Amino acid sequence: MSEVVFVGTSDAFGAGGRRQSAVFARGERGGMLIDCGATTNTGLSALEIPRDEVDVILVSHFHGDHFGGIPGFLYAALYADRRRHALEIAGPPEIEARVHALANAMGHHLGNREWSFPIRYREIRPGETREVGPATIQAFATAHQLEAHPQGYRIQLGAESIAYSGDTGWFEALPRAVAGSGLFICECPRMRGARFPSLARGAARASRRSRLRSPDPDPPRRDDDRSARSDRARDRRRRIRRQALSRPSSHSTP
Ligand SMILES: [Zn+2]
Repeated sequence: MSEVVFVGTSDAFGAGGRRQSAVFARGERGGMLIDCGATTNTGLSALEIPRDEVDVILVSHFHGDHFGGIPGFLYAALYADRRRHALEIAGPPEIEARVHALANAMGHHLGNREWSFPIRYREIRPGETREVGPATIQAFATAHQLEAHPQGYRIQLGAESIAYSGDTGWFEALPRAVAGSGLFICECPRMRGARFPSLARGAARASRRSRLRSPDPDPPRRDDDRSARSDRARDRRRRIRRQALSRPSSHSTP
């Protein structure tokens, strides 16, 4: 891989005056835009990255700050760039319907015009691996709002590999999911309970076993985490109570 450019690194609200999520990865066989927030077209323009270099837009989940820029990208490719070569748009199940619904809501209906280039939609489910444009992409489920179909990716682009979390909270299978990647781009808005040493150790351990291995397609969700925490707290209370009962009391003898 020759280059990775962080086009946007803010949260959904433009924190720090930065743009919303988007990373451009340029490989030997083509370029990929990982997420495309509402501000991404402005970012590509400011960074002088031609849209023509983007062969694939890969979407992590259906929040506007991660895929809200796709309708604008398509229209710019058609009218400003006069694009001729194919564009693949890959992402969670429903990717095509979600992009069309978004474009309709924005007043840019996609279905009623002549496109000068083919647009191919590719669904990738957690646990699946797909060849998409210049890359091999493997998806893994993440811990974010379920209705947005959140997932992260392992991306093999030429000789190099990237892991990308998209928005996620901490989950125990994360180190294994990203192990072996040359670069891990982690976007964890809620990291309560995260164990960074565990992440580093787990990733190192797993990467020794395999360079591109199957991640756990079904990590525990936040509700599961919460119930596991309350189970552990209940077990701890029981253990303390048992110890207190079994310990001879200094006040038990007259
Ligand atoms: Zn999100």
